Amino acid sequence: SIYDYLFRGLTGAELDRTAVVDGASGTATTYRELTAQVDALAGAVAARGLGVHGVAAVLCPNIPAFPVVFHGLLRAGATITTINSLYTADEIAHQLTDAGADWLFTISALLPAAREAAERTGIPAERLVVLDGADGHPSLQDFLAAGAPAPEVAIDAATHIAVMPYSSGTTGRPKGVLLSHRNLVANVEQSRGLLDIGAEDRLLALLPFFHIYGMTVLLNLAFRQRARLVTMAKFELPEFLRIVQERRCSYLFIAPPLAVALSKHPMVDEYDLSSVHTTLSGAAPLDGELGTLLAERLGCRVLQGYGMTEMSPVSHLIPRNAPGVPVSSVGYTVPNMECRLVDPATGEDLEIPAVGESAAGHLLCRGPNVMLGYLNRPEETADTLDSDGYLHTGDIATVRADGVVTIVDRLKELIKYKGYQVAPAELEALLLTHPGIADAAVIGTNDADGQEVPKAFIVRQDGPVGEALDEGAVTEFVAARVAPFKKVHHVEFIDAVPKSASGKILRRILKTTDRT
Ligand code: ATP
Ligand code: MG
Repeated sequence: SIYDYLFRGLTGAELDRTAVVDGASGTATTYRELTAQVDALAGAVAARGLGVHGVAAVLCPNIPAFPVVFHGLLRAGATITTINSLYTADEIAHQLTDAGADWLFTISALLPAAREAAERTGIPAERLVVLDGADGHPSLQDFLAAGAPAPEVAIDAATHIAVMPYSSGTTGRPKGVLLSHRNLVANVEQSRGLLDIGAEDRLLALLPFFHIYGMTVLLNLAFRQRARLVTMAKFELPEFLRIVQERRCSYLFIAPPLAVALSKHPMVDEYDLSSVHTTLSGAAPLDGELGTLLAERLGCRVLQGYGMTEMSPVSHLIPRNAPGVPVSSVGYTVPNMECRLVDPATGEDLEIPAVGESAAGHLLCRGPNVMLGYLNRPEETADTLDSDGYLHTGDIATVRADGVVTIVDRLKELIKYKGYQVAPAELEALLLTHPGIADAAVIGTNDADGQEVPKAFIVRQDGPVGEALDEGAVTEFVAARVAPFKKVHHVEFIDAVPKSASGKILRRILKTTDRT
């Protein structure tokens, strides 16, 4: 089980180290305390009838109690579904029903929405746990004080569903993903040798724990490496910078929106971020220029990784010492995975050149970290996992002769212009290099004659350069730098680019409100 893998082998010296620090208050928990709390929680939920394969939902921001609940539930053999902590009562109720959850763990600040959703889905008050306490509900303290021993449960790692996180909902309604204990263990094993996270490292736990990226790298990988997690419940740039400085964070896992802020925002210079030695970006494309800018500004190494909820999530990583691997790439396939690039139209394998780079193809991956399937979606499972066990990622990539992979964009979001394909991500990255542009998103929109053409949504940078920017300036900026078929035909100025909690541009929202 993932519990055995992470915690059974802790040595005496490791048990005394700090496992989790609350970024705001500085309250620390050692590995000894963490594992004791995990055991106590497992014992308490088992005593209250949450059995093996019982489904428990966790709706909670990144606070130190989260890892206790997460690993306690896993230890008890339960299946966890993690819920986006920004969700409304409707969205929570939908996920509780879809996942078949009959326990819900939350905090008092989220109780109004949680209670409404619990009532609607028939979860009684005694199974709605309010970690920091609320009248009529059990609290974390009640569980930790219960004194029930952790149950010894038999877990078949290959088939026992550990977690059912949901995909980000970038292309449609989020999908529940079935991940086994083996999936979770495999992905930590596949990534940990490529990075150099050690017991001296302090990882800022800013990526949401409810999403697979934060779940695997923070709740699993960090503990496997005996590192320290510094939790941050809500993102605000000044608070983020303050915590990194004050808690001497050394490793930052981020998504591209934060890379933009860290490389462009003037406030960053006011803080001492010299403790940071590595920043790893994932979840959405990181532009090479932006990555280089970030590395210079923070004086740290910048790496990129690629993955998806369906792969627990990591399939590609730039390893720690990899000269010649550009930050705009996602590095190499992680160990114990096989990948293929196929022609999206025919499904035929593409030729990998002896030198140079392949043509762009659909990326397929197979390995022990690939999901068992989607929850309640047999047709989508069949469309995504083929009979050879390959997962169809839906992403277009290229590969160099030496194995370095670069993600082009999602297959479904490529703009088809007169027989050419335009990747929105490429144009977005280019637009971000303009000093007057704070943020940008590109979609395909239909012209009067029905031709799909690129359209840019632009957020102006504060200050004179941004204010002076108009449609003509944007289209000319792009036209001067790309092949004619990639030109931007329409420009709209907006206040903010819609993004998901995991840091992805929600192009489908821009598409449905597009008035071109
Ligand atoms: P949904 O499947 O619900 O539409 P989603 O695909 O965004 O949402 P996730 O599983 O969180 O849900 O994200 C996986 C996707 O994120 C990948 O398929 C890929 O498109 C994108 N992605 C992840 N990392 C990178 C990266 N480094 N570069 C480019 N794209 C990335
Ligand atoms: Mg997806």
